[in-house]
Amino acid sequence: MFKDTPVVREQIKKCVRCGKCRSVCPIFQVYQTENYSPSGQVFLVQMLRDGELEVSEKVAAKASDCLMCESCSSTCPSGIPVPELVAAARAYIGEQRPSAGKDLIFGKLWTNPRLLRKAVAAAGLADSLGFRNIARALGMTSILPGDLPQAEKILGKIPRASARTRIKTVSPAKGTRKTRVAYFLGCGTDLLQPKVALATVEVLNHLGCEVVVSPNLKCCGVPHLANGQKKIAEELVQHNVNILHKLGVDAVISDCASCTSTLKGHLYKDWLKVKVFDLSVFIVEVLGIPSEIRALPHPLTVTYHDPCHLVKAQKIKDQPRQLLKSIPGVELKEMAGADTCCGGSGTFGLTHYEVSMKILEAKINNIRQTEAQAVATCCPSCITQLSYGLRESGLNYPVLHPIQLLHQGLYKR
Ligand code: SF4
Ligand code: SF4
Repeated sequence: MFKDTPVVREQIKKCVRCGKCRSVCPIFQVYQTENYSPSGQVFLVQMLRDGELEVSEKVAAKASDCLMCESCSSTCPSGIPVPELVAAARAYIGEQRPSAGKDLIFGKLWTNPRLLRKAVAAAGLADSLGFRNIARALGMTSILPGDLPQAEKILGKIPRASARTRIKTVSPAKGTRKTRVAYFLGCGTDLLQPKVALATVEVLNHLGCEVVVSPNLKCCGVPHLANGQKKIAEELVQHNVNILHKLGVDAVISDCASCTSTLKGHLYKDWLKVKVFDLSVFIVEVLGIPSEIRALPHPLTVTYHDPCHLVKAQKIKDQPRQLLKSIPGVELKEMAGADTCCGGSGTFGLTHYEVSMKILEAKINNIRQTEAQAVATCCPSCITQLSYGLRESGLNYPVLHPIQLLHQGLYKR
């Protein structure tokens, strides 16, 4: 029951309405009203709990106006996990207002990696054949729900082959094996940024890791949780935990900030018994930065964007920068507000296009000021969002995961 959920029962009463969360909330920055603030979300959950609000379209829309970026919870003096409260409210709203569309996307498609890959590959093929442009010109994309007709542009050119189809289940360590790790290949990296996955596996092998990429793992569950599909998210957790425990690995690694944050977070915490690492932390603190990195063919000025699910949810800030600075030829130039949200947040940019673009605009301006030649970040969703913002602004910077630059330093000549 929603009212009896521990987070709803115990956390709401801790809000002292101090307002400290407002200044850091990207949504509040856009709307500038209390209604669209973290404490406004806490109040909404409280009203739902106490039966003072009926579930309605308006209430559902209000609860959906949150990026789950954790800017508020990492600032709140009472330590209130606002995104967890919002997720509980969305789950309750989802139960009261079932949606056939959401059931299809999150229940049938996003729980079946093979089907999801086929659907995305078909979209990639349609893209390469120019069908998407034709569909746009004919206005056919306008039949998509909500903001999707505009927002599908964010995805850009969809790769035709997923990473999973190009990576073996077990990739051996180069030289002496130091450790055996599971690489948790998230949906965003697999389907939208496969080059990041290929670089991850090759670099881990180079550093002495036997890498297991289980074909049976499914989505970590964060898109389901963010979209009110808590039951499905919990089923995914049980499924993934069972698989991961059978792999006989020393650690679970991911290059996706949202995946590692979810695997370490409240959904998995009581179940998963294997340690989870962000890729940059694992390289910097466990394996050690390799000494044989060679200079890039051309010097490159890079600015780094902190993904919310890395810097706020996991307090990981230094290790990706250390990795970048270790590559000869890379000059790291900090942008103002490197740790502010880019507005992507998984599916948020696709469902809340206008507000997402306002948040993105500020980020792109900060990137522009650095006059960097490339942007680095540790999250496939941020890579997709920032790439779109740069394309739209006429800026021709590549957006890369630090592992791709490290890979270049180890292999490209
Ligand atoms: S910072 Fe925390 S306690 Fe203060 S208003 Fe926001 S949620 Fe409430
Ligand atoms: S999680 Fe982010 S978007 Fe949501 S209320 Fe907190 S600061 Fe605002």
